[in-house]
Amino acid sequence: MTASSPLRFAHTVTERFLRYVAIDTQSDPASPTCPSTEKQKDLGRLLASELRAMGLFDAHLDEHGYVYATIQANSEKQVPVICFCSHMDTSPDCTGANVKPQIVKNYGGGDIVLPADPSQVIRASEHPALAEQIGHDIITTDGTTLLGADNKAGIAEIMDAAQFLIQNPQIKHGTIKILFTPDEEIGRGVDKVDLKKLGADFAYTIDGETAGNIEDETFSADGVTITVEGVSTHPGFAKGKMEHAIKIAAAIVDRLPKTTCSPETTDGRQGFLHPIGITGALETTTLGFIVRDFTEAGLKEKEALLEKIVKEVMLDFPRSTYRLEIKQQYRNMKQVIDRHPEIVDNAIEAIRRAGLSPVRTSIRGGTDGSRLSFMGLPCPNIFAGEHAFHSRLEWVSVQDMEKAVQTIVHLATIWEERA
Ligand SMILES: [Zn+2]
Repeated sequence: MTASSPLRFAHTVTERFLRYVAIDTQSDPASPTCPSTEKQKDLGRLLASELRAMGLFDAHLDEHGYVYATIQANSEKQVPVICFCSHMDTSPDCTGANVKPQIVKNYGGGDIVLPADPSQVIRASEHPALAEQIGHDIITTDGTTLLGADNKAGIAEIMDAAQFLIQNPQIKHGTIKILFTPDEEIGRGVDKVDLKKLGADFAYTIDGETAGNIEDETFSADGVTITVEGVSTHPGFAKGKMEHAIKIAAAIVDRLPKTTCSPETTDGRQGFLHPIGITGALETTTLGFIVRDFTEAGLKEKEALLEKIVKEVMLDFPRSTYRLEIKQQYRNMKQVIDRHPEIVDNAIEAIRRAGLSPVRTSIRGGTDGSRLSFMGLPCPNIFAGEHAFHSRLEWVSVQDMEKAVQTIVHLATIWEERA
């Protein structure tokens, strides 16, 4: 398929999206089960049955809440098996029950006031991406819930692309796998995925923000725990003896860089050191940190800085001791994805054929794709069009979702062309 023979796409992604956001799939970090909430299976069952109705007869929801399906190859070539993946759960940060979507047709610019709670306003000044949406149809909530475009936009786009490929057998493609996961928002999205059963060579999550973006880099992440052992005495008889673990910990936090190296002072490709918890008493106090950077060297540098601060503070408390433990959390997926440059090259070409300007960018966080990449399934992230996610101001545009459908279809054909 080239730009000179445009495909005739249907406008069905929106009705799918509206059907999926009506189902509450909020995940719960306090739950020990998988999926963390049983209601995620309500959406999983619907998706599996819709996929079977399309003719994907192996489509099923497994006991852990994952949906798997296969679009059979219609090409004679040896095409790598590609998987498209999205997550079914929504964020625990904002309610996802009784979502009532509103469509602002032919957006003309300016602020969007949400009808059920006029204090909720999507302000053009705070959401610069709105400026790109003039003339588009924007889906918002009524102001009382999140929307769930993160990541039901991705699900609707994959479903719509699957339907399109099945209805247009003249479009050649290899075997395509579909995977919908639970519990991504609580960091457990790939805990129970069966990669052997999936059988894919490469994958794409469809869970990015701005139309045209492809993200092939995530943070690398460590956790650091510092345990301070002070010297405890009765406070009435403490002069010259007591060394207070809480005060030592406070001194460490106070010496962290104030104008750099924190989430509130960095963006783009800068990493940070970030305290996430402090518990303790006079004798023992524990400090938890997360460390983020795009490179291994950057992580090491920040961890060395933290230890230097701790050592300096401890000089004032000669009879106290500390323990510093570093735990690896996840790594920048670029290390894996760069071994197969065709994964991103093909996506960039697909985005271009969908009529967008591709933007290759990085994520200041981790994704299911970063974990999948290190589990052996290289997996960058393609835009789904979702904006202001995890909030009542969440929105997505109909036209961006349609561009994502086109990108997925083109991507399937490009892998076949280049095989
Ligand atoms: Zn997401």
